[in-house]
Amino acid sequence: MFKEDTVSPEVVNPKDWSPVSWKDFPIKQLPDYPNQEELEKVYKELSEYPPLITSWEVAALKKKLADVAAGKSFLLQGGDCAESFDDCKAPKVVNLLKVLLQMSFILIHEMGIPVLRVGRIAGQYAKPRSRNYETVNGQKIPNYRGDLINSIEPKLEARIPDPNRLLEGYNKSALTLNFLRALADEGFADLHHPEYWELDFMKQNTYYQEYEAMVNSIQKAVGFMETITPNEFSTVQKVNIYTSHEGLNLHYDSAQTRKVPRRDGWYNLSTHLVWLGNRTREIDGAHVEYLRGIRNPIGIKIGPNYDLDETMQLIEKLNPIHEAGKIVLITRFGKDEVSEKLPKLIQNIKREGMPVVWSCDPMHGNTFSTDSNIKTRNFDDIIEEIRKTFDIHRSQGSYLGGVHLELTGDNVTECVGGARGLGEGELHQNYKSYCDPRLNYQQSLEMAFLIAKEWNQ
Ligand code: PEP
Ligand code: MN
Repeated sequence: MFKEDTVSPEVVNPKDWSPVSWKDFPIKQLPDYPNQEELEKVYKELSEYPPLITSWEVAALKKKLADVAAGKSFLLQGGDCAESFDDCKAPKVVNLLKVLLQMSFILIHEMGIPVLRVGRIAGQYAKPRSRNYETVNGQKIPNYRGDLINSIEPKLEARIPDPNRLLEGYNKSALTLNFLRALADEGFADLHHPEYWELDFMKQNTYYQEYEAMVNSIQKAVGFMETITPNEFSTVQKVNIYTSHEGLNLHYDSAQTRKVPRRDGWYNLSTHLVWLGNRTREIDGAHVEYLRGIRNPIGIKIGPNYDLDETMQLIEKLNPIHEAGKIVLITRFGKDEVSEKLPKLIQNIKREGMPVVWSCDPMHGNTFSTDSNIKTRNFDDIIEEIRKTFDIHRSQGSYLGGVHLELTGDNVTECVGGARGLGEGELHQNYKSYCDPRLNYQQSLEMAFLIAKEWNQ
């Protein structure tokens, strides 16, 4: 009945796998919870809550990703590096949806193909860290690992992993998703109003006229649709948006991994797409063990330290039947290393005939600290990695099908550069991220515009 499940039972129900089989494997980036009894209680509660999303949505996303892999569509994945519980508020959700929508309209307009939107939202609460500890006022305390695990407050007690945060993460994700779905269903009719499109900031840019003409044309197109099909305007209003987060705190993800009536296999029903971080992708590690058993599409972050053979085995392990739309390879090499590291990976994937979606994360390989020790990224470095990645795919006869960006719809000052020329001295003005620096609203729109220009090269 369900075509996407007509694969061998061994694949949909892999041998020796269960939602908790990962517990028998070495795990990175997940500290022990001191209170195991509390953890078990919370786990049980979480595992009985209603799912946040459905397996049907997961299947639909996989089909759309198969279109991306086939070069018929483009993937726009973006959102905060880390969401925070405190920021689970209306304007935050509205602004993220708005920026993702506007970016996608720019891409659709310029590229002439559908754009698949996936937010880093409604569950992106856990973070891998390069150090386990930090020193605050002479005291060594465990590092912050995202609101799903501990608190950002720089105090020893606040940094102890607290299982109740798993429930709060579920609750905050549910609130976020509920509002996101309502907005996506009806609330964005106003997108065609000129005041929703900020134009002025691009005035300093050489592309200003082109940009202005494009925004006018998008507005006209929306207006035209409204005029000729007033009763079907919902086709413009209703937008599809999917959710994603890094599959890092496996207690959270496995408690929400379920069997679904009349469907084979297991689904992570906390989010549509789960990705494997660059620091947790050991082939014999707990994270890979967990991910091999679920039917959701899986993103794999690949940084410059990757081993070619192991990466090929990893992809095979996560997608043994070479199902299209299952794997999104998210390369994050940095502008300086991409030319050396990417071609051989593309060649091998092509040789093995693996139907992957290629996406470029131009953020994580281009982070640096300013002289005053503020973590930032330069807009020019970000677009440079994207340009190089497009070029390499073109020259290898492959298709770059998407981008993975850390961005926000808010006017933060976290990345330098862009049309407004945000300088290092301005970073302190509105630096809000708990973790990595994000493109702000204007930088995101400009980035979409430049990506579309690059796509058309
Ligand atoms: C992230 O996406 O926030 C992240 C930590 O990425 P990576 O695993 O690629 O370092
Ligand atoms: Mn990040």
